[in-house]
Amino acid sequence: MFTRVKPSDFHNLNVIGKGSFGTVVLARHRQSGSMYAVKVLQKQVILRKKEQSHVMVERSVLLKGLQRPFLVGLHFSFQTSHTLFFVLDYINGGELFYHLQREGAFPEPRATFYSAEMASALGYLHSLNIVYRDLKPENILLDSGGHVVLTDFGLCKEGVSVGGTMQTFCGTPEYLAPAVLLGHTYSGAVDWWELGNVLYEMLHGLSPFYSRSKAEMFENILHTPLQLHRSVSQSARSLLQGLLEKDCTKRLGGEHDLAVQG
Ligand code: ADP
Ligand code: MG
Repeated sequence: MFTRVKPSDFHNLNVIGKGSFGTVVLARHRQSGSMYAVKVLQKQVILRKKEQSHVMVERSVLLKGLQRPFLVGLHFSFQTSHTLFFVLDYINGGELFYHLQREGAFPEPRATFYSAEMASALGYLHSLNIVYRDLKPENILLDSGGHVVLTDFGLCKEGVSVGGTMQTFCGTPEYLAPAVLLGHTYSGAVDWWELGNVLYEMLHGLSPFYSRSKAEMFENILHTPLQLHRSVSQSARSLLQGLLEKDCTKRLGGEHDLAVQG
């Protein structure tokens, strides 16, 4: 670790991502020459959006020293009077859905591989009482070896035991689980719903309840039965039906979460 890290220790190269309230910049650490992704958050924007608690959660989640496969690593964090900086591993394989969009859909073995890695990351977070809550296309990156890396811990909620619940409305409409839409309390089961969404989208090229009208999409999420393409194998079918079960108490992973070794 370097002592007293500051913005001028990094040479900013270019912007590699923009999210809801952060800019992510590719930067070279001057002294070591290493490349990092630096997430830059303006304190004022966070205050305006009343998101302090999210950002503090992001920091504490990242700082837990999650040196785990499939989760982005944080190296340093520091601040100036107006800005917060998070120095992350630079993940250079692009967003998973960039690749999906280019190819339309993935063959099942490829989708299986990514889903297994995401499931492993989610099971691990749940074992720490962290619900990720934001598993969506632009937060799933691929590293240079083709493995999944989840980034953006801005929305995960800490201190929620699996089976325990929380009640803040957050997330991206397309990927919202029924309990979230209905304003019910929810738990780690929302992550398994979102994994179902992503797996479905990898196999079909579209999310399962998609509609151009938001109202219709909400209606679909809540009430429309899941429809799968006939090319989907028996085992993928049963996995998707389990994950995209609308009743979270019956959902796969809802009651008995994935056990991941620490
Ligand atoms: P927000 O919380 O504002 O959504 P994110 O953390 O999701 O911000 O970052 C925005 C975008 O920046 C991501 O969708 C991704 O494309 C890119 N990005 C984020 N972290 C990294 C990283 N460690 N390496 C490479 N690109 C990243
Ligand atoms: Mg994001």
